[in-house]
Amino acid sequence: MTAEAPSEQAAGPRCYQLGLIGYPLGHSRSPALHHAALAAAGLAGEYRLYALPPDETGLAQIAGLVADLRAGRLHGLNVTIPHKQNVMPLVDRLSRVARAVGAVNTLFRAADGAVVGDNTDAPGFLRDLKRQLGVPPGLALVLGAGGSARAVTYALGSAGWQVRVLARRAEQAEGLVAEIGRAAGLEAYLFAGDLQRDLPSFAASGVDLLVNTTPLGMFPKIEGCPWPDNLSLPAGAAVYDLIYNPRETLLLRQARAAGLHAANGAGMLIEQAILAFHCWTGIEPSFETMERAFPPN
Ligand code: NAP
Repeated sequence: MTAEAPSEQAAGPRCYQLGLIGYPLGHSRSPALHHAALAAAGLAGEYRLYALPPDETGLAQIAGLVADLRAGRLHGLNVTIPHKQNVMPLVDRLSRVARAVGAVNTLFRAADGAVVGDNTDAPGFLRDLKRQLGVPPGLALVLGAGGSARAVTYALGSAGWQVRVLARRAEQAEGLVAEIGRAAGLEAYLFAGDLQRDLPSFAASGVDLLVNTTPLGMFPKIEGCPWPDNLSLPAGAAVYDLIYNPRETLLLRQARAAGLHAANGAGMLIEQAILAFHCWTGIEPSFETMERAFPPN
């Protein structure tokens, strides 16, 4: 969680103006989550969607929203694909986690009036991993090396895990490991590999946790699976799939059929929202409040 407090925590605005910047935003669950959090906290406010394309006009509008936050006309923003890196040069400072992950998903105004770019995906993942699977640090395999893999790799590495990141483009995994290793001082804990070439040997080396950060298996292509048909899942490993639609992916179904402890990414989505809401209001909504606002579809 961020170490900084929001600027208006003591008094608080009369009506919280919150929102999400991204593109496209058709299926976002964030308004339901944050409206539930506002209601549970007894706060007036709204959470709006700002669907802004990554072109000149869209980026200018994002700069305007950040200026509104700095001026106190807005009270909190989330940021999602494709803008998690685009907002970084617009903020006054980055949290330690956002700097290390290299992405921002939450913007808030600090006590000194500065706009801070934070990342609640990383601690959100870790909180949900502990809550659902409770595995102590050991060896983790991360499949995929995109945006969410950055947050997951940082979270695991900083919690004492050895992490092996595997991507279909090995250079993407190598870049991720090099950047996060350097930024977070985790060089000794992080390793990269090629998904096709290295998975069999990595899988045979006593894996404690397997994390899928690829979109393979996500609706509507639910027949997809990042784990090859001809390879057994690592015996005794816990399996965490970041996908939450469907709630049980083919990977999770196979893991449970093999007797492995497995979890989907719905809890991570909820936890990152809880942490963002805390950044904006100083109030932490309960997991149960958020879960009720996010029923499986
Ligand atoms: P991303 O930045 O596009 O990264 C996706 C990664 O998966 C990339 O390394 C990509 O490789 C790889 N990949 C894509 N298709 C592949 C395939 N057919 N075979 C092997 N590798 C493949 O996406 P992201 O933002 O990390 O999101 C990934 C997934 O996580 C999505 O399903 C998203 O919904 C989920 N997610 C969940 C949460 C949560 O809170 N639970 C948060 C964030 C994301 P290339 O670059 O080569 O395509």
